[in-house]
Amino acid sequence: MSQTQPPLPENALVVLIGASGAGKSTLARTWPASQVLSLDALRGTVSDDPGDQAATADAADVLKLILERRMARRLNTVVDSTNVEEAIRAELVMTAKKYGVPTVAVVVSTPLPLCLQRQQPRPANRRVPDDVVRRQHAAMTSSHQNLAREGFTQVLFAHDLNRLEPYLRHLSEARRSDLGLDGGDGLGHLLLVRRFFGEEILPMWRWNDDSDIAGGDRVGEIRLGQQHLTLALRLDVDGEGDIGFDIAVPCPFDPECSATAWTPAYSVTCLHRALTGDLDHRDDIVCDVHGYDDVDQEADDHAAGMDDDAEGRADLEEQYAAAVRE
Ligand code: GDP
Ligand code: MG
Repeated sequence: MSQTQPPLPENALVVLIGASGAGKSTLARTWPASQVLSLDALRGTVSDDPGDQAATADAADVLKLILERRMARRLNTVVDSTNVEEAIRAELVMTAKKYGVPTVAVVVSTPLPLCLQRQQPRPANRRVPDDVVRRQHAAMTSSHQNLAREGFTQVLFAHDLNRLEPYLRHLSEARRSDLGLDGGDGLGHLLLVRRFFGEEILPMWRWNDDSDIAGGDRVGEIRLGQQHLTLALRLDVDGEGDIGFDIAVPCPFDPECSATAWTPAYSVTCLHRALTGDLDHRDDIVCDVHGYDDVDQEADDHAAGMDDDAEGRADLEEQYAAAVRE
């Protein structure tokens, strides 16, 4: 695999230069998020709308402030905005030089038709008009020959950066750490919590290994303030070895019943529905005392065309086993 020639300095100011749709943000994602200053993201920070052009000046102010503080620490920093205007680049270069940080211009010279085509799938507030993209592209092209004179230590094309390798290395290390393959504890069953309900649930999830309300299966709780949900991890659903979660709901058969009743939870949507009471009368609830509604549930669901495995419980065991095996 070819290497960047010469390699990037360890700590530099990396200025991406390219039209909208050129691939700047995609490239920027290959650096740690804390190192990337994105004008779009900062527009979102100051206005709640990354596409709000009226927020550009405020976002640029914030960008300059953070850049200054990062340069003072001589930290590697990537500026993700078009940077096709010389005056904007001059200010960035000046800030880096003030702190003796090397500057790298990275020209993202994607052909204009592709930049234009990439506007189409974007949401309306993020779509840049064709004439603006054309102007940005022309400015990018004509700026290239001036970049060394503008004071950049190094001038490169994005094409030559080979950032896929460090990106995959980082993702691979994170995965190995999650699985405990790096000698650490790994996430264990939290991998399943993440797979079913998403990354965002993990900070609110606690195992309650003292609880025996789930017939010996592991019990977990999602809690924020006084709102909470209780779940059981089933490692052998229906005796068929499938993996899944059940969520505790009130017994639907007797309002006086204080036993725990369970219903499958396939996704974060089930969590939301359980919290709002929307699952309380689902017909696949099993109460620890009253059992389940004794219609032939599977035949019933099948007839109604609502296979309860629609969100993919069955293949999870194989995925989990494969992940743990490696
Ligand atoms: P920006 O406007 O310059 O930040 O462009 P983006 O990085 O948002 O790129 C727009 C879209 O083009 C992305 O969502 C990707 O789908 C695609 N894209 C951009 N660069 C690349 C690339 O290097 N490889 C691939 N496969 N897709 C890319
Ligand atoms: Mg972008």
